[in-house]
Amino acid sequence: MTPVHTIDVVVIGGGQAGLAAGFHLRRLGVGYVILDAQPSAGGAWQHAWESLHLFSPATYSSLPGMTMSHQLGETYPDAQHVVDYLADYERRYGLPVHRPVHVLGVHRDGPLLRVDADSGTWQARAVVSATGTWSRPFIPAVPGREVFQGRQLHTVNYGSSEDFTEQHVVVVGGGNSGAQIAADLTAHADVTWATQRPPRFLADNIDGRALFEAATARRRALETGAADTGGVASLGDIVAVPPVRAARDAGLLKASPMFARLAADGPVWQDGSAVRADAVIWCTGFRPALSHLAPLALRGHRGHIPTTGTRATAEPRLHLLGYGDWTGPASATLIGVGRPARDAAREIAELLDSR
Ligand code: FAD
Repeated sequence: MTPVHTIDVVVIGGGQAGLAAGFHLRRLGVGYVILDAQPSAGGAWQHAWESLHLFSPATYSSLPGMTMSHQLGETYPDAQHVVDYLADYERRYGLPVHRPVHVLGVHRDGPLLRVDADSGTWQARAVVSATGTWSRPFIPAVPGREVFQGRQLHTVNYGSSEDFTEQHVVVVGGGNSGAQIAADLTAHADVTWATQRPPRFLADNIDGRALFEAATARRRALETGAADTGGVASLGDIVAVPPVRAARDAGLLKASPMFARLAADGPVWQDGSAVRADAVIWCTGFRPALSHLAPLALRGHRGHIPTTGTRATAEPRLHLLGYGDWTGPASATLIGVGRPARDAAREIAELLDSR
């Protein structure tokens, strides 16, 4: 028989968003557990490719309460530094993270929510879902994907450029992952970088710091009824981190338009031109990992769950944290998740007090 536990709040997911929720729930004296499917701390950062570096300095990549330390010799810390920081964060605040626990479904159970996991059941008065997007890579339906004979992988499976030495690799996607992976590959491979629209590089002096400030200015403007500043999207898409800047300045990072289809040996464009490719890497984004919430039947437009702040509009006992701007401005970043986590924890504490 699987054990049944009763607790005020279950946080699902022990990445940065789940930990930020835990920090604020702990502060408010709410009883909670964090259930995380990974065997160790660090969330999605454990699976980043070897050369990935943050696009913000350490002090601009911190969760509430504890500033990320500077990484020796690096302005922009690498993914392992973030994993170490998140592990330290859990230890410092004694966050009750249970691993590995995979949540299968959240169900309504009278006044409680029942959280069914592979190693037990939790009955809770409220749930925070903070499961991220990394486990749901998205690849668009491009014709011929099934006939291409080379390797196809997604951002999540990319490790290092050395795996593609002397190969011709097609990188698809005009965002930060596409630009960084294309730049990284130029060390060992020939690269074709295919993007749906011409890539929009941010000015070289703009990094995650400035993006966060732009997002904050927009939030303030909207809160006070001032004119919309346009926020981050108005600045561009791609942060010119040093390796991207170097590849771009060396003329190695030129984008081609998106191809029309894949043939057995590579992509073919609308005008009939083609290149031979050994591999296609899809840097085409992610979708929120929400399948465990399916029993609550809350999905709306575009597969998102409608929210008011972080609270599921149709289920006040459920909060969603960290998936993207629809769960709080910049909530999918290290520095941005603190504020929505604080608001979610406050609302949950109020809900528990009121019952
Ligand atoms: P995750 O880190 O994915 O954590 C979610 C956790 O929930 C995981 O441990 C997962 O195993 C667990 N989980 C999932 N489903 C279940 C389930 N059913 N049951 C139990 N557990 C479950 N942000 C920055 O601030 N700075 C950057 O420079 C930056 N660079 C980025 C570069 C790339 C390539 C990408 C993809 C993102 C980047 N981000 C950056 C964005 C962001 O910080 C990350 O996406 C971040 O990992 C999101 O944190 P999270 O806690 O929401 O999700």
